[in-house]
Amino acid sequence: MLTAITGINWGDEGKGRMVDLLSENYDIVVRYQGGNNAGHTVINERGRFILNLMPSGILREHVINILGNGMVIDIKHLCEEMAKLISSGIKITPENLKISDRAIICMPYHVMQDILEEDRLADKKFGSTRRGIAPVYADKYLKKGIRTSELFDLDSLKSRLADILEWKNLSINKGYGAEMLSLEEMYKYLIEYGTKLLPFICDTGLFLDKAAKEGKRIMFEAQLGALRDIDFGIYPYTSSSNTIAAYAPIGAGIPNHKLDKVIGIMKAYSSCVGEGPFTCELFGEKGSELREAGSEYGAATGRPRRVGGFDVVASRYGVRAQGADVLALTKLDILSYLDKIPVCVAYEIDGEQTTDFPVGVKLEKAKPVYIYMDGWNTDISSCRSMSDLPEKAYEYIKYIEKAVDCPIEYISVGAEREQYIKSE
Ligand code: GDP
Repeated sequence: MLTAITGINWGDEGKGRMVDLLSENYDIVVRYQGGNNAGHTVINERGRFILNLMPSGILREHVINILGNGMVIDIKHLCEEMAKLISSGIKITPENLKISDRAIICMPYHVMQDILEEDRLADKKFGSTRRGIAPVYADKYLKKGIRTSELFDLDSLKSRLADILEWKNLSINKGYGAEMLSLEEMYKYLIEYGTKLLPFICDTGLFLDKAAKEGKRIMFEAQLGALRDIDFGIYPYTSSSNTIAAYAPIGAGIPNHKLDKVIGIMKAYSSCVGEGPFTCELFGEKGSELREAGSEYGAATGRPRRVGGFDVVASRYGVRAQGADVLALTKLDILSYLDKIPVCVAYEIDGEQTTDFPVGVKLEKAKPVYIYMDGWNTDISSCRSMSDLPEKAYEYIKYIEKAVDCPIEYISVGAEREQYIKSE
């Protein structure tokens, strides 16, 4: 059973929370793209955890966790994240954590490049998380990336690193005027953090292929949402990788296998961190009330997120891009304070309404067409079945289900593991 859990929106849909819940029935959880640029918050009986690189399955004892070849890994950050989890009593061994030998290492100079470029752009900035993700993916495609497997042969790594740094200094030092990168320092860095990870690095594609053939249950955990996919998202305000489910078998290392199921995680309202077009955005008091109600501050960066009502146009597009078979609607409880719930049902572009998600300049110009649905004004966080829900909440779910044309299988009504409803 191969299942992908992916985001339908702009990210921060609560994927980590759903993976934590659903991983009970899986043997393996794999991250297939991205790096430490996003943060999954997971709250369960063992505590509150923010996971940046680690698959959310790490919090379950029986789950084997994999960082796939499609990822970019900041090895210092990973060592720190592992140490933090271990100090909270989470077991991490080469038995339950495996790192792909084809994953690319996100180096300190990628972080530097990211910061230097965002600073240079000033008010034209993209809203990067400044964790080096765009520069490291760019280097991957320029074939100047360092793979984790190279940590096993330090002599050849050092000579490759020397060549890379000679080239990198052309932009870092000669271009941006920042301090020259030193070979000795970068090499020491790779040894310091890379050596600690050696026992975990292996051919995870081989491992997963065998596991899939043995009928093991494998879950693919996405980071970010469909609208941040480099091809299908709001380019250039996207991430630098493919976040969509179709990429999961590739980024995990088993392109020879097909997914059995895609579960799309979709938020009951909208949130978006960083710059870029966000048509359904609510401003002023309406926006701040929703932001506070939903605690919409970035888990990785603490940045306040932009918020808006549920966006039918963008979400239906997200469902299509992900090829979602079923959906989990999250954070429905957050809307309980509203008398009238805003839902963006169409976009208006140059005086014409559309329900198709536009691209480029058209998207920049789009204005939201809002309708208001009746709220339920009751705390729903302890509802555990559809029949526990107030009628208006039920109507809201059914409306959304029809609007995006995909069945809603789970409804999350709180951040804790058991705060959810499985639709009958
Ligand atoms: P992810 O990156 O998609 O995993 O999402 P984040 O972790 O960035 O953001 C989701 C936030 O909402 C986290 O703080 C979760 O603990 C919280 N959360 C998830 N589902 C629910 C829910 O149904 N209700 C409430 N109140 N909080 C939720």
